[in-house]
Amino acid sequence: LNRRLAEFGTTIFAEMSALAVRTGAINLGQGFPDTDGPEEIREAAVRALRDGRGNQYPPGPGVPELRAAVAEHQLRRYGLSYDPDTEVLVTAGATEAIAAALLALVEPGDEVVALEPYYDSYAACVAMAGGTRVPVTLRPHGEAGQRSFRLDLDELRDAVTDRTRLLLLNTPHNPTGTVLTRAELAAIAELAVERDLLVVTDEVYEHLVFDAAEHIPLASFPGMRERTVTIGSAGKTFSFTGWKVGWVTAAPALVTAVRSAKQYLTYVASGPFQYAVAEALALPESYFTAYREDMEAKRDLLAAGLAEAGFGVYRPAGTYFVTTDIRPLGERDGFAFCRTLPERCGVAAIPNAVFYDHREQGAPFVRFTFCKRADVLREATDRLLKLR
Ligand code: PMP
Ligand code: GLN
Repeated sequence: LNRRLAEFGTTIFAEMSALAVRTGAINLGQGFPDTDGPEEIREAAVRALRDGRGNQYPPGPGVPELRAAVAEHQLRRYGLSYDPDTEVLVTAGATEAIAAALLALVEPGDEVVALEPYYDSYAACVAMAGGTRVPVTLRPHGEAGQRSFRLDLDELRDAVTDRTRLLLLNTPHNPTGTVLTRAELAAIAELAVERDLLVVTDEVYEHLVFDAAEHIPLASFPGMRERTVTIGSAGKTFSFTGWKVGWVTAAPALVTAVRSAKQYLTYVASGPFQYAVAEALALPESYFTAYREDMEAKRDLLAAGLAEAGFGVYRPAGTYFVTTDIRPLGERDGFAFCRTLPERCGVAAIPNAVFYDHREQGAPFVRFTFCKRADVLREATDRLLKLR
């Protein structure tokens, strides 16, 4: 393994999912739903397979139906207008979109500012691109019942130097569940314009925002459309994580750049599934509302169960993850806690420290997912009561 990748090892998701299987624990670690997406969309995939649509290499930018559906979705939902031919690119999941964007846009030695904790592929992809990651730590705030992780805008401004090439954002944010506010996004946009930065914004949880929170795409702020690469995912929006269909929307020059990298990574992927996802994006608003409401109820269920079991709960405003503080349980080290939790009470979780450069900042935090059936969440929280 080369020096760029040596520090990364095996992803925590593989490690903790394997541990869950080995011990028979309920897996609230890796974020994948235990209920597949809509049946009619699975039927659409079957039809595409059967009718021979996408069984051979689809077009490099993605099938026209899906590019049109992505553009339509951004317009309908956010009033953002993208040309399906020049401003939309289909990728092998959001994971490839992140990789291709960083490989295409970062020069060796460039600094990439990212919110910490960050989704684990960010650090590895910045490293593969030869960039230097500069983490800006989201800080825990508040008391029981209203804890959240917040961005300190001064810290973000201070992190930008003359070597900064791009900001790598994620909202709604995995693993903290933070949803950046309009004011925060406006300040980030101003900074990007002032310092002439590109922004790659991972918005895969765009449909999972709860209570009064609102997801606002960064690309919709003044001066941002031409400098922002926005990333979405059918895995997260339609509960088909195995299909690996994602997309990028951006100005033509940026899409062309990302595509230049993408063509040598996978060239293309997921042929028949692209047609099905095109249909999914055109589902009526009731699908998106029901999905959000279902996850919101599950958030409430898991958050309440975790609080009862004695965790400090950071109730998420978005995503399908709850970050918890294990110190109220008399624990300090999330890694050790997650490695023994399956044996102790039959539940698997993810230590947030893996998402930090400043490991000590993440040490007492542990992430649980609630994208599972309600009975599974109830059984898991019953088991966690043993920790008290
Ligand atoms: N970004 C974030 C923040 C994620 O949590 C995930 C996880 N699934 C991804 C990207 C990857 O998405 P995909 O499965 O579409 O590759
Ligand atoms: N995005 C999901 C998570 O954060 C799954 C990640 C993965 O398996 N690579 O849990």
